[in-house]
Amino acid sequence: MPHCNKKMLSFFLTTRCNLCCRYCYNAKERNAIEEQTIPFEIAKSGVDWYFDNNESRHIRFYGPGEPTQAFDRMKEITRYAKNHPNGGDRVTVEIQTNGVFTEDIRAWILDNINIIWMSFDGMRDIQEYNRPLNLKYNAMFSGRKSAQVLEDNVRWLISNKGEHNLMVGARVTITDKNIDKQKEMVDYFYNLGIRYIWTNPLFYGVGKIPVCDDQEKQSSYNFDMEKYIDNYLDAYYYAKGKGLFWGSFLTINFDGESAYHCRCCTPLAAPHLTTDGYISACDMALTGSEAHHMDLFIVGKWNPETNSFDLYEEKIKALNDRKSTNMEHCKGCPAQLHCGGYCLGETVNEFGKLNGQNTMKCNAVRKLLSKLGTCKPFPYLHP
Ligand code: SF4
Ligand code: SF4
Ligand code: SF4
Repeated sequence: MPHCNKKMLSFFLTTRCNLCCRYCYNAKERNAIEEQTIPFEIAKSGVDWYFDNNESRHIRFYGPGEPTQAFDRMKEITRYAKNHPNGGDRVTVEIQTNGVFTEDIRAWILDNINIIWMSFDGMRDIQEYNRPLNLKYNAMFSGRKSAQVLEDNVRWLISNKGEHNLMVGARVTITDKNIDKQKEMVDYFYNLGIRYIWTNPLFYGVGKIPVCDDQEKQSSYNFDMEKYIDNYLDAYYYAKGKGLFWGSFLTINFDGESAYHCRCCTPLAAPHLTTDGYISACDMALTGSEAHHMDLFIVGKWNPETNSFDLYEEKIKALNDRKSTNMEHCKGCPAQLHCGGYCLGETVNEFGKLNGQNTMKCNAVRKLLSKLGTCKPFPYLHP
């Protein structure tokens, strides 16, 4: 089932975050604006609008900061969606979190969330290095480091899962710190009780200009794709032998056929509501008012006078038309229907346009497809 089948309403809940990750993809963007949490009024209108126009009842909480930092709003939105007269009884809930939250939050998650993706970079030392706690939160976690809080929460959720419909998975960013430790990470996650892991090669952060115009960003980026693939393949087969799923962002469409890369191409079936009241098509376009070159993904805005969303039809059409079957460089590519023209967010961030091409990533996708081939539907689609 290609990734564009992931139909859901996402909430970019809050810009607040309790970690200081070294590679945070949006730290500058978040810090440049005043702290914001999505107003309940907008979230509520979003639920009404989405449920009126879509069959899916899947909702999701995501950045731009750490969603559990707006716990009350998350509870409020979940309660509203689950009690909605139009299919609220079918609501399922997903979250992507850094996993560093308090005991009252994890107890609520156990009872209310169905899919939880923990942003995890691997063993404690790497996690601690890449994703340290913001010092002002030290007292809240009694001096425990971020990696220990995360491990404690994962163990607690898995051991208390019982009959709850909950999957605890990991989403791992691969950097030069863990690129050659993928097999070791398989054992680490296995011992924690995690069975589903998606890995993502490090990608460029989003700034005010596309990477193609940013020499400083280009020269500071360092990722050995060949090394990632070799180590990924070793870990993939090793994990398979242990009954564990070790996925790669580069393979998210290997389980079906689609000319679309992801849900971003069908934004009305998978909208993301931003903290400042816009509809975004992509996880990498986190605010509407400061979108800069990522503005291509801002496809609507909440209108307080009508209490509804105004849609930007031309931008929606441009995303609908962004297919691998329409792009010159994808014609004749053996991965055409198992890649879908690659990630639009990364492409626009790097080239400032929807039809850019990163040949390093194309070669990586093709190589993985030639080694792994296609597969049956993934149990859990990439976050
Ligand atoms: S948890 Fe996410 S939002 Fe927070 S600093 Fe890390 S990458 Fe950035
Ligand atoms: S970041 Fe890439 S995969 Fe994620 S929603 Fe945006 S285009 Fe799709
Ligand atoms: S691998 Fe490259 S050329 Fe092939 S479909 Fe993906 S983006 Fe297009």
